[in-house]
Amino acid sequence: MDQSYQFIQEIFNAQLANQYTVASKSVLERKVKLRKLKKAIEITFREEIRSALFNDYGKHPSEVDLIEIYPVISEIKLALRKLGSWAANEKVKTPLSLIGSKSYIHKEAKGVCLLISPWNFPINLTFGPLVSAIAAGNTVIIKPSEHTPNSSAIIKKIISSLFNENEIVVIEGEAEVSTKLLELPFHHIFFTGSTAVGKIVMTAAAKNLSSITLELGGKSPVIVDKSANLDVTAKRIVWGKYTNNGQVCIAPDYIFVHEDVKVAFIEKMKTTIEKFYGKNVLESIDLSKIVNQNHFDRAVKSLNNALENGAKVLIGGKNEPQSNAFEPTLLENVSYNSEMMTQEIFGPCLPIFTFSSVNAPIKYICKNGRPLALYVFAKNEKVIQKIISETRAGTTCINNSNVQFSNPNLPFGGINNSGIGKSHGKFGFDEFTNARSILKQRFSGPLEFIMPPYSGFKQKLIDLTIKWF
Ligand code: NAD
Repeated sequence: MDQSYQFIQEIFNAQLANQYTVASKSVLERKVKLRKLKKAIEITFREEIRSALFNDYGKHPSEVDLIEIYPVISEIKLALRKLGSWAANEKVKTPLSLIGSKSYIHKEAKGVCLLISPWNFPINLTFGPLVSAIAAGNTVIIKPSEHTPNSSAIIKKIISSLFNENEIVVIEGEAEVSTKLLELPFHHIFFTGSTAVGKIVMTAAAKNLSSITLELGGKSPVIVDKSANLDVTAKRIVWGKYTNNGQVCIAPDYIFVHEDVKVAFIEKMKTTIEKFYGKNVLESIDLSKIVNQNHFDRAVKSLNNALENGAKVLIGGKNEPQSNAFEPTLLENVSYNSEMMTQEIFGPCLPIFTFSSVNAPIKYICKNGRPLALYVFAKNEKVIQKIISETRAGTTCINNSNVQFSNPNLPFGGINNSGIGKSHGKFGFDEFTNARSILKQRFSGPLEFIMPPYSGFKQKLIDLTIKWF
């Protein structure tokens, strides 16, 4: 590591030295830390968090409260209620062959952890996993995204007001800072971001055999069956897609709608968008902007590429480079080979396809990687169960979108290309915890009678053990 990054090594060493002290803190002491964090986010720094996100990309303060602050507060509340049971030793049964011993699972902190977070929900996706890391008794180095500098600055301010650097610290910087951090032998790395960078993180982690959680992205499909209630379906899809203007890892990415209800469904999408964001959508303060010029240009390029390949705009399509505003944009006839269908959209475009038999969307989804989220809008229970059993996805929400993220009792995470490992509640706690198995021999057991030298009699005992115990 070169001289300019020497401080990263120093902080890492300080955390290495401090890890056992932090891990030895009781459940009550960890809860004190979580309560302080809760107060900082909910009260002390709430206004500063709201302004930071507004300044970063025009996020409405109500959306900040609902999607950034509330999920973190509910994670903390759950940890405060349940930490005692999550962290307690777990007794397990002892087989007859091991009679004379007792066994239990001891929950211990993994140690020094790295938490790399993205820009799209900087508060939620930094403090959410941090709650699990603190609950499990770890030290943490946080590397927030460089694309939301105001949010990263407030995250740093909050953390430095509550923790010493040898326990939790924020290190800001571009991707190369992450690269330097990833050279270090962390005990666990929790990464939220794109699939492409996830692969880089996993490769770097392999060098040190650091354990990893990868919360990645991908394309999250929606199936709208003809049995669905179209009014609520349109309302919930528009909300799920256009919160943060599509810049959400679990945002609906493309829709398969049953051909019998396509026209009615598109009409309802149109009226809902107008109801939510008014007639002059580009000026709506309720719709987030695209985060920066690069991502704005990416969205425009993807739209143009789709149009060149025969797509037709059904709703929206207008955008404004001066403000990075971009209308909710629904399209049809999008080629499966266009950029819009080969890459995660992560923006305001929403391609719509039709089907006559649900086998067609199932086949398409199974052929194109495992999504982080799969949405089904239907009343017909047979259709719902068929889709669930014939596909794989990290999460599924039936008759709504995105809200599955908000239940901290559910595991959150992808599968293979959309992620490895789970977060939230007990699942997040487990991710930052080593489940150490402990067997304590109390008195002599049957094994002592079958140790070498072997004999015919001992072989009979071994045969009996295999057969009966
Ligand atoms: P990103 O992968 O570009 O960046 C994420 C983090 O990784 C940032 O802190 C960045 O500085 C760092 N980084 C960038 N390049 C790096 C490199 N070469 N080596 C090491 N670190 C590097 O992602 P983003 O643009 O910030 O976020 C959008 C992506 O994140 C989307 O794909 C989205 O689906 C995904 N995402 C997933 C979840 C989830 O919970 N599964 C949540 C939010 C976003």
